[in-house]
Amino acid sequence: MTDRNFRAILTGSFSTPCADNPTVAMMEAAYAHDGIDARYINCDVKAENLEGAVKGALAMEWVGFNCSLPHKVEVIKYLDEVAESASIIGAVNCVSIRDGKLTGNNTDGKGFLASLKKVTDPSGKKILLLGAGGAARAIAVELGLAGAKHITIANRKPEKAEAIAELIRKNTKSEAKAVAWSGDIAVPEGADVVINATSIGLGDKEALPPVDLGTLSQGVVVADVIPNPPATKFLREAKSRGCITLDGLGMLVNQGVIGAELWLGRKLNEDAMVNTLQEIFGVSSD
Ligand code: NDP
Repeated sequence: MTDRNFRAILTGSFSTPCADNPTVAMMEAAYAHDGIDARYINCDVKAENLEGAVKGALAMEWVGFNCSLPHKVEVIKYLDEVAESASIIGAVNCVSIRDGKLTGNNTDGKGFLASLKKVTDPSGKKILLLGAGGAARAIAVELGLAGAKHITIANRKPEKAEAIAELIRKNTKSEAKAVAWSGDIAVPEGADVVINATSIGLGDKEALPPVDLGTLSQGVVVADVIPNPPATKFLREAKSRGCITLDGLGMLVNQGVIGAELWLGRKLNEDAMVNTLQEIFGVSSD
């Protein structure tokens, strides 16, 4: 017999496909950096197996798990409670388990917000949000709850942008309006923050969302959700015009930090996570 504890804390992720999701490497690097005996198990869980996976996590006394596509909405029916913003968004990507009770959160928007707050407080700000998919929806709700003054949501399919604008007007104190996005969109006069929350730029360093770059003023905060490559063409163009830029790595890392706080009650080292992702994506830290 020995006094050593051979039982690790269990966390992980349920999604499909899952093989290209680097979160496991990021989380385990942070656990190792801080000497936490925890595992993060990246599980390929098909839609029809979600209930079994959730029950399995509960049975094995995991402290929590992330869920990604296609489970973010479906998982809600297996939870005991859902936090405010996740409930407004209607999607959960982070579940914590305490005393057998499952609580759902959405860290997509919270991770973005934590990253944004390092350069500006969105309270009272005018924001242009490009895109109206899951990431945009989560970001818009967090910006609304954080007290943004006005959010313009632009999307090719305007009905999706209108649905988010309606959600913001109904559930937060922010003003919100939807615009149909066709051709190069002009950044509205007085905008403080511009966010690319589309998938344009993912895996393509030359792809650029159709934006009239001449309307990007110096000092405006320009953020991109794209984690890979982090230095998207949109951010490079914005930087060359004197904008303050924010890449999608920060959003991803902060999601890990927030998840671990919910699961373990402690703050992980961000540098260990950033370094790991940069190594995986083959980028330098400048
Ligand atoms: P969705 O598929 O839900 O939404 C994609 C959005 O991009 C839609 O608004 C879509 O418009 C728009 N879009 C795609 N192609 C074009 C185009 N050519 N022109 C104009 N609009 C376009 O995806 P998600 O919201 O889930 O994810 C979006 C991105 O965010 C992904 O690349 C993902 O990697 C990234 N992400 C990053 C995270 C991070 O931590 N850094 C976390 C979560 C997501 P339409 O509705 O008109 O089709």
